[in-house]
Amino acid sequence: MRITHWFRAATTALALLSFHAAGAEAVPTGKLPDAAKPLSYALDLKIDPKADRFDGRVRIKVRLAKPADHLWLHARELDVAKAVVIDAKGNARDARLTVRDRSGVAEVAFGATLPAQDVELAFDYSAPFNAKLQGIYKVKVGGDAYVTTQMESISARYAFPSFDEPRFKTPFDITLTVPKDEVALANTLQTGAKESDDKKRKTLTFARTQPLPTYLVALAVGPWDVVDGPTIPANAVRKDPVPLRGVGPRGTGPQLKWILDQTPETVKYYEDYTNQPYPFDKLDLVGAPDFSAGAMENAGFIVYRDALLRIDAKSPASSYRSSFNVNAHEVAHQWFGDLVTVPWWDDIWLNEAFATWAQGKATVALKPEYLGDLSRLEGTLHAMDSDSQLSARRIRQPIGDQGDIENAFDGITYQKGAAVLRMFEEWVGEDVYREAMRDYLAKHKFGSGNSDDLIATIARVSGKGEALSKAMRSFLDEPGLPLVHAELKCNAGKGAVALSQSRYLPYGVLGEGNPLWQAPVCARFGRDGKSDRQCFLLDAPKKEFALAGGCAQWTMPNADAAGYYRFALDAADFGALKSQVATLAPAEQLVYADAISAAFEQGAIGPEVVLEAMPALAASSSPQIATALVGSFEWIREHLATDTTRPALDAYAKSLYAPRLKELGLHKRPNDGDATTRLRLGLVDLLALTVRDKDLRAQLDREARAALGLDGGKVDLGKLDPDIRGVALKVAVQDSGEAAYKAVQQELKTNTQTKQRYELLAALGATHDAKLGEDVRNYGLTPAVAVGEIQYLYYSHVGEEENRAGFWTWLKPNFDALRRRLPDSHQPLAIGLASAGRCGKDSGEEMREWFAPRIKDMIGGERKLAQSLESVDTCGALREHVGTKALAQWAEAHPAR
Ligand SMILES: [Zn+2]
Repeated sequence: MRITHWFRAATTALALLSFHAAGAEAVPTGKLPDAAKPLSYALDLKIDPKADRFDGRVRIKVRLAKPADHLWLHARELDVAKAVVIDAKGNARDARLTVRDRSGVAEVAFGATLPAQDVELAFDYSAPFNAKLQGIYKVKVGGDAYVTTQMESISARYAFPSFDEPRFKTPFDITLTVPKDEVALANTLQTGAKESDDKKRKTLTFARTQPLPTYLVALAVGPWDVVDGPTIPANAVRKDPVPLRGVGPRGTGPQLKWILDQTPETVKYYEDYTNQPYPFDKLDLVGAPDFSAGAMENAGFIVYRDALLRIDAKSPASSYRSSFNVNAHEVAHQWFGDLVTVPWWDDIWLNEAFATWAQGKATVALKPEYLGDLSRLEGTLHAMDSDSQLSARRIRQPIGDQGDIENAFDGITYQKGAAVLRMFEEWVGEDVYREAMRDYLAKHKFGSGNSDDLIATIARVSGKGEALSKAMRSFLDEPGLPLVHAELKCNAGKGAVALSQSRYLPYGVLGEGNPLWQAPVCARFGRDGKSDRQCFLLDAPKKEFALAGGCAQWTMPNADAAGYYRFALDAADFGALKSQVATLAPAEQLVYADAISAAFEQGAIGPEVVLEAMPALAASSSPQIATALVGSFEWIREHLATDTTRPALDAYAKSLYAPRLKELGLHKRPNDGDATTRLRLGLVDLLALTVRDKDLRAQLDREARAALGLDGGKVDLGKLDPDIRGVALKVAVQDSGEAAYKAVQQELKTNTQTKQRYELLAALGATHDAKLGEDVRNYGLTPAVAVGEIQYLYYSHVGEEENRAGFWTWLKPNFDALRRRLPDSHQPLAIGLASAGRCGKDSGEEMREWFAPRIKDMIGGERKLAQSLESVDTCGALREHVGTKALAQWAEAHPAR
């Protein structure tokens, strides 16, 4: 029987309503009912990457909790040829699968009422390879075709009929029948192989998996390179070694060596931490030639955008770092998410916050040169920016439909969640926290655990009980972040600090109600060249605390930057802190800088204060600190500066940063560490692309022209310093015009180095030429740009002020075409692109009017629009509040020479 796509016929809302009115039971678009529960799957797939479709047979053992004549599950874009239900006695009867909802909720009717029992459902079906990187999808590279999978969040339903929810964890038996010469891999080790009678195909069987949710099932078929990594040796926690392999498109095997060599240490780190052995029978790191996200933590079979795994001598330092970081994140998920899984998407923060937090710990421990403590803090500060919006999600957000599920994967879930975990780790102490984590994992392993389970465990193990539960919940269930105001007091030799809290909101934004957090606040107090640290629980709007060490001369209200809050000080206390900046820990210097930009965004201080704070930070050897206020500088430059004041700003930035670049040199030196190359890139980016320093641009243009063969010779990107290659290519496209543009586009026809492709696409996008700009926009709709590459082209394009009006004009007639190319969950990209650089209510209104009627069916579209409009409005309000006068005065005192 064919699946009935009834909703395609039901084109009007009226038809939808009448169906619901007539039906006996509402379609469960949120959670499936509890009446049926899957026990195991046998998944048998026939896959030929050269074909357009694949065939499948899936058998699902299901427990019926009560008598039923139907059950609900998920299936999407599957052509089901036959559906059968086999009862506990072995009697088979035909069943009927009907898709009842756009998101793939399907009813399986048995044709009779069956008593409560265990039954088996069997479906024979076929389906197209997905064109948008979801479910089982196919990507062509040159003449090769690769099939791989992406099931999270709810795309397993494109691959096989399934109970596509994370709470249903069952074993899977996977069998793949593929052309004889293709490589086929899955979550577990291969256990058998059989050749077909005509010797054209082979059927591979794989070991039964541990209990997995559908979203962690994965496989790959194609002419893959498979290379062995170092085996992950046995240790005190695990008695058997674990085989480790790298998998990538044909010819890329050697590039996988670096990350494979890093992986055993990372696995060991988590085993030591969790006291739980790596949970699966092998670990494959798979580089997919096109992929919708960065990477996906499938059990034993982690799939990455191949750019993240392919490392060689021509890779920039940033690639090594990202590769390590993303791998640390995905490997952490093997425990946090795979071994213990969240039951429903409202707790997805647990998966992602856990992995982000654990990744930070692993990076700090294993790669100190990556300055992981500052990187994770940058992530936290970024989350604070999103969390400053009134439209911000809570960490634990109720989930209704598919849109809510896709929305749940944002900075709040990852970085805020991780920051909150870290704040409470700091509060209870690292050792106690580890005990609690071990306890939680041991209790829920191979099953599910939710927020309440975790909170209860930490509260019990730490002995902090209800106080901790309440405090943690206040951060999980309350949107936004606290602004903690601190004031030092000194009376008759007794020191105190008065703390108060309110929701941090930018200028002009009025919140409703008075949220109250139970915030663990740890502050540093300085006295005569020394400082100590004291922690408090701020559980009231205002509270005064005595200082153990007596009166203090200065305070840093977020000691070690471990708290998820922003802080404010009165002028005198701020001045005292400012005089101590050089003595603060690097992470504290970064939250000090954040306090300045936060105060500016609140309209509490003027642009001159931000600018005057830059020199003390610009001298830092940490790239994050040296450029900490560059974001605020760029905002001032873009939204406040005039033709008169901009040259003064540019000259100022140059005076601060050009000498630093000169000191480092434009190109990598043999002993440069990661921080140095990272700082160099930050400086080159600012000076060449924002401030547009002529001499630097001329030098970069020359180098890129030589690499592109514009002055004779062949194209050889290897001539460019990999760390600044992306910037040099952009400059060449901007300054050498059409010749450079065409050379880059030509190179894209044959270049298969994914990282270089991203740089080439970003370079094309950065053109300032009106005619080429139109070409860029149309180019993104052609198959020359892979689905996962589209964002690199367009983000770079609208990053340039010169292109924004053209993009907006172009987007209107091409909106549908752009949407058609993107996976459902990626479509809000169009709104993000259109909002770039907009500032002020009128500009927002224009956007709202155009998008609002067009995004009703866009997953996550309404939230994205609300957030974009809020930023646009906030920008306008601040611009008006600050005005141009203070900057004009500052510019007069700092004339451009
Ligand atoms: Zn993750």
